[in-house]
Amino acid sequence: MGKLLFWVFVIVAALLVARIAARSAVKGHRRESRRADASRFPADGMVRCAHCGIHLPPSEAVRRKGYNYCSLAHSLKGPGK
Ligand SMILES: [Zn+2]
Repeated sequence: MGKLLFWVFVIVAALLVARIAARSAVKGHRRESRRADASRFPADGMVRCAHCGIHLPPSEAVRRKGYNYCSLAHSLKGPGK
Protein backbone atom coordinates (compact mmCIF):
# COMPACT_ATOMS: atom_id res chain seq x y z
CA MET A 1 0.00 0.00 0.00
CA GLY A 2 2.81 2.35 0.91
CA LYS A 3 4.51 1.53 -2.36
CA LEU A 4 1.35 2.35 -4.35
CA LEU A 5 1.03 5.70 -2.59
CA PHE A 6 4.67 6.39 -3.38
CA TRP A 7 4.12 5.77 -7.10
CA VAL A 8 0.94 7.87 -7.15
CA PHE A 9 2.93 10.69 -5.57
CA VAL A 10 5.76 10.28 -8.09
CA ILE A 11 3.33 10.36 -11.04
CA VAL A 12 1.46 13.41 -9.73
CA ALA A 13 4.73 15.22 -9.10
CA ALA A 14 5.97 14.37 -12.60
CA LEU A 15 2.75 15.67 -14.18
CA LEU A 16 3.00 18.85 -12.13
CA VAL A 17 6.60 19.45 -13.18
CA ALA A 18 5.74 18.74 -16.84
CA ARG A 19 2.84 21.18 -16.70
CA ILE A 20 4.95 23.94 -15.14
CA ALA A 21 7.73 23.34 -17.68
CA ALA A 22 5.26 23.47 -20.59
CA ARG A 23 3.67 26.64 -19.27
CA SER A 24 6.98 28.45 -18.84
CA ALA A 25 8.10 27.28 -22.29
CA VAL A 26 4.94 28.72 -23.85
CA LYS A 27 5.38 31.95 -21.92
CA GLY A 28 9.01 32.23 -23.03
CA HIS A 29 8.05 31.56 -26.63
CA ARG A 30 5.30 34.19 -26.51
CA ARG A 31 7.68 36.76 -25.06
CA GLU A 32 10.20 35.90 -27.78
CA SER A 33 7.69 36.26 -30.62
CA ARG A 34 6.35 39.51 -29.20
CA ARG A 35 9.88 40.92 -29.12
CA ALA A 36 10.40 39.78 -32.71
CA ASP A 37 7.15 41.47 -33.72
CA ALA A 38 8.21 44.71 -32.07
CA SER A 39 11.54 44.77 -33.89
CA ARG A 40 9.97 43.73 -37.19
CA PHE A 41 7.12 46.20 -36.93
CA PRO A 42 7.78 49.19 -39.17
CA ALA A 43 7.68 52.66 -37.69
CA ASP A 44 5.31 53.68 -40.50
CA GLY A 45 1.83 54.29 -39.20
CA MET A 46 3.22 54.53 -35.68
CA VAL A 47 3.66 57.68 -33.67
CA ARG A 48 6.66 58.50 -31.51
CA CYS A 49 6.47 59.56 -27.90
CA ALA A 50 7.90 63.08 -27.76
CA HIS A 51 9.29 62.37 -24.29
CA CYS A 52 10.91 58.92 -24.37
CA GLY A 53 10.92 58.20 -28.10
CA ILE A 54 9.13 54.87 -28.15
CA HIS A 55 6.83 54.12 -31.06
CA LEU A 56 3.23 53.20 -30.48
CA PRO A 57 0.00 52.95 -32.48
CA PRO A 58 -1.77 56.32 -32.84
CA SER A 59 -4.85 54.83 -31.17
CA GLU A 60 -2.83 54.35 -27.95
CA ALA A 61 -1.05 57.69 -28.08
CA VAL A 62 -1.85 60.60 -25.79
CA ARG A 63 -1.93 63.84 -27.78
CA ARG A 64 -1.06 67.07 -26.05
CA LYS A 65 -0.07 70.44 -27.54
CA GLY A 66 0.58 68.89 -30.95
CA TYR A 67 2.88 66.17 -29.60
CA ASN A 68 2.26 62.46 -29.23
CA TYR A 69 3.09 60.71 -25.97
CA CYS A 70 3.05 57.08 -24.83
CA SER A 71 1.34 57.87 -21.55
CA LEU A 72 -0.36 60.61 -19.60
CA ALA A 73 2.72 60.85 -17.35
CA HIS A 74 4.98 61.62 -20.32
CA SER A 75 2.48 64.10 -21.77
CA LEU A 76 2.70 65.99 -18.49
CA LYS A 77 6.51 65.91 -18.55
CA GLY A 78 6.56 67.37 -22.07
CA PRO A 79 8.89 66.76 -25.01
CA GLY A 80 12.52 65.70 -24.58
CA LYS A 81 14.21 63.38 -22.11
ZN1 LIG B 1 7.01 58.09 -23.37
